[in-house]
Amino acid sequence: MKPVLAIGDVVAKPGEIAKGSLGSVELADGSKSKVPLIVINGVHEGPVLALVAAIHGTEISGILAIHQVVQSLDPRKLHGSLLAIPGGNPLAIRVGAYTTPLDGKNLSGPWYLPPVQKEIATITQRLALYINEALEKANYIIDIHANPLPSIHFVLTSLEMCKTDEIKQDVKKMAKAFGLTIINWPRKEATSIRDICCKNNRPSITVELAGNIYMWDEVAMVGARGIRNVMRVLGMLEGPMEKQEVDIIEGDFTFFGWLIAQRGGFMLVRKKPGQFIKQGDVVIEIVDVYGDVIEQVRMPVNGYCWSFTGGVGGTHAVSEGDRLAYVFTHVEELGKPSFVEKPV
Ligand SMILES: [Zn+2]
Repeated sequence: MKPVLAIGDVVAKPGEIAKGSLGSVELADGSKSKVPLIVINGVHEGPVLALVAAIHGTEISGILAIHQVVQSLDPRKLHGSLLAIPGGNPLAIRVGAYTTPLDGKNLSGPWYLPPVQKEIATITQRLALYINEALEKANYIIDIHANPLPSIHFVLTSLEMCKTDEIKQDVKKMAKAFGLTIINWPRKEATSIRDICCKNNRPSITVELAGNIYMWDEVAMVGARGIRNVMRVLGMLEGPMEKQEVDIIEGDFTFFGWLIAQRGGFMLVRKKPGQFIKQGDVVIEIVDVYGDVIEQVRMPVNGYCWSFTGGVGGTHAVSEGDRLAYVFTHVEELGKPSFVEKPV
C-alpha cells in the first residue's frame, strides 16, 4: 500500500485528491497570501510530478491548464502522484503583475534547491521556500508560463543544465511528449525553476502557452493535453497520446536573443510568431504618436520570433530599450555572421 502524502497543510491518502496550501506569507494588514497546492495521490506506485503555474503573476492561463488536468484525472487509475501549484505567486496574481510588487523580485529566480534561508529571505523568496517543498519531493517538474499575444505555444529546455545524459534524455522525452515546438535555451547560470531542477537531477521543462492573461479553454487545453502526454510517457497515466491541434515547427532550435527598441513609440508587428523570417527582414516598425515610422526593427538571424512582448505589461506602446520580441533559430545558424544594419 502506498503511503499517505502530507505536504504543507494537505494530506492525501492513496486514491484521494486533496486541496490546501504549502504555506502563506503575512502582509501589513494582517492578511495572509497562500501558495495553493493540490495533491493527487494515485493508488498505484509511480513517480511524483510537480506542476507549477503563474510563477509570473500575469501568466494565469497555466492555472486553468492545471484545473483541467486535475478535473480529468481519476486517482484510482493514477500511477504515482501529482503535486500541482495552481498560482505560484499569489502576491503578483492579485494585482496582475509579472513580478512581486512588494519586493520587486522575480519568483522565477535562483531561490530553489536549496532555498534562501527563511530569516533573511524577502517575501518572494519566502514564496519560493514553500514551492521548494514540492520541488524537493518531485521526480519531474513542469513549470507552466505564458506569453502575451501574438505568440506561439512551445516548450523550453535547458539541456546544458543537465549533469548526466540520463537527465538530458528524460528532459527530451518530456518535451517531445508535450507535443509542441521545442526550443533549447543554453544558459550558463541556473536562473529558473527549469534550470535549477535540471541541475539538481530533476528533469524539468518550461511550457510557454500563447496567451497569458486569459482563462480561455482553447489556450489552457494545449497545456492540459501536454501535461497528460508527459504523464503517459512517465508511466503515470494510461491511454493514447493526445494530439496537439496547434502549429508545430520541427527542428533543432535554440534561443537567440531579443529584438530591442531603439526608439519609443508604438510597435506594428509585421511578421507572425512562428513564421520563418530571413536575416535583415523588417519584423517590427515603430511609429511615433503622429503615425510616422521612426524605426524599422530587423531580424538579426534567419529564424523566428516566438512572441511579441512589447512594452510594460505587454502593451504595444514601447519605450527605447524594451524587449519587443524573443528570437529563436536553428542551431546550425549559430556562428554565421550576424546581421549588422548599414548606416543610411
Ligand atoms: Zn513567465
